Amino acid sequence: MMGIKERTFQPFPDDLSLEVLVPKDNFYRRLEERIELSFVRELVLPLYAKGGRHSIDPVVFFKLQLVLFFENLRSERQLMEVVADRLSLRWYVGYDLCGPLPDHSSLTKIRERYGLEIFRNFFERIVEMCVEAGLVRGKELFFDSTKLEADAAVDSLAPRWFVEAHLQDLFEEDDDHSEREEEPQGEEFEDEESIHSLPTAGNEDLIQSNCASEDWISRSGKQDRSFSSGPRKRTSDSRASKTDPDATAMRWSGGARKLGYQTHYVIDGGKSRIILSVLVTPGEVTENRPMLDLLWRTAFRWKIRPHHVTGDGKYGTVENITAVEESGIRAYLGLHEAGGRGSDFFPKSAFTYDAGKDLYICPAGETLRALGEAQDRRSRGKVVTYRARGSVCGACSLKPRCTINKNGRSLRRGPGDEYIDLLRAYTQTELYQKAIRKRKVWIEPLFAEGKLWHGMRRFRMRTLEKVNIEALMIASGQNMKRLLTFGDRGPRKLAQGAALRPPQPTLVRMDRTVSRCRNRLHRPCASRFSTRCFACGLVHLFSAVISEAVRTTSQYPSLYLSL
Ligand code: SF4
Repeated sequence: MMGIKERTFQPFPDDLSLEVLVPKDNFYRRLEERIELSFVRELVLPLYAKGGRHSIDPVVFFKLQLVLFFENLRSERQLMEVVADRLSLRWYVGYDLCGPLPDHSSLTKIRERYGLEIFRNFFERIVEMCVEAGLVRGKELFFDSTKLEADAAVDSLAPRWFVEAHLQDLFEEDDDHSEREEEPQGEEFEDEESIHSLPTAGNEDLIQSNCASEDWISRSGKQDRSFSSGPRKRTSDSRASKTDPDATAMRWSGGARKLGYQTHYVIDGGKSRIILSVLVTPGEVTENRPMLDLLWRTAFRWKIRPHHVTGDGKYGTVENITAVEESGIRAYLGLHEAGGRGSDFFPKSAFTYDAGKDLYICPAGETLRALGEAQDRRSRGKVVTYRARGSVCGACSLKPRCTINKNGRSLRRGPGDEYIDLLRAYTQTELYQKAIRKRKVWIEPLFAEGKLWHGMRRFRMRTLEKVNIEALMIASGQNMKRLLTFGDRGPRKLAQGAALRPPQPTLVRMDRTVSRCRNRLHRPCASRFSTRCFACGLVHLFSAVISEAVRTTSQYPSLYLSL
């Protein structure tokens, strides 16, 4: 017999609460238990006034952002509808069944108030948790990027001068408005000297060089329009989107043309695949350009010194390979086989360079010698051309596969080519092959995960700053998933966690180093008037001066700071 359900609802009993209703093994219970987010209050504290109306708790805001990630939602409005509807989400953000939830528009305002820097700090704090849990090995780093669609259509493209003039007008209005608003608060900024009373005060050169220096991360992935990689003009130099001025046109697989961005990830080679750095750039920025900035930031921020970095052929430019190798890290990057005219001709790698004789040996065993003042050109960092004799090439049976030039095949060798040769040698090693194989299964699944389950296929926000915020939250959520899965195993390398603590004992270390040096160098000398004895005397004098300086600065820290 078919049953009919009566729709009757009783008021809740007094002893019933969300604590009882949410199942014990609910995912959000695990998240709450494992990842403590109270640190965000400290992060955002300077952005709040001391008095006035109580704001939405920053912890609640970040929890809601994580719900947005885990539930794959597209907007704050949708988010609040889902939270209102789900017991476990209400429990996670700490709002009771009958309690009014924050309005979705407040979340947008809070996000704008925090800005990119707070979200980057939040992401980095999550990475710190991963490091403290022993999930980061730091021995190898993987670089890759993926194309993401912008929230703008190609039809919105217009002449760049028109879009920029429009934005200029908007900002001018904003500036006037902000000036008017800030006038009554002028007293707070009267004491400008207090800003300059920091330890670097007086060092104008340092202040100016710090202000002038910028990298991809400090300018949030913004394109440098003065950069040119050749005579070809970029479409984005002349056209910009009216909807999202930072998004640029990209070719998608299948030939479709859409506006988009590139999201760059730096991933640790450990089993947990923790994302160590994230950056979103306009789609026109090629993968190789932000690589070095991302590498230096990752290495310095997380205090790691990788054995090698791995990336595909798009990262393997001479500039990148040279910089990575010169820093003592192996560049396991893909290599463009340039040098041949199309696939029918021998690539440059088919020729062997003999460094001792400064010549190339071609596949037929003939020599290609340097033209002109090679030594002089090389010392000035110029490209040297090597050429085989035309008569030799003319008689060669391999010529159809080598060149069509009647003067013979030529090769160019510029600064950094020795590192290219080194990279070619790496490609023959098992370690390189393994790293390249590992890259495919290490970093690409993370992009797939983001796109399939966490709304990473298309950005929901517009402009570079906001899409960077979105990418940082997605990467934070992905790291949290690893923290939940692997974090319970505890740290395997306590030293990694310890390495993150503030480096306050610099003076002590200096002192210790000085005394250690002194002990080592004050061993009895075999000969009374030997060169070593003289060197010991000098070192003794030098170490005495250093230790005196250390002692003085320990007693007078303000003097140390001013130095
Ligand atoms: S064409 Fe000239 S450079 Fe090329 S393989 Fe023959 S001899 Fe060597």
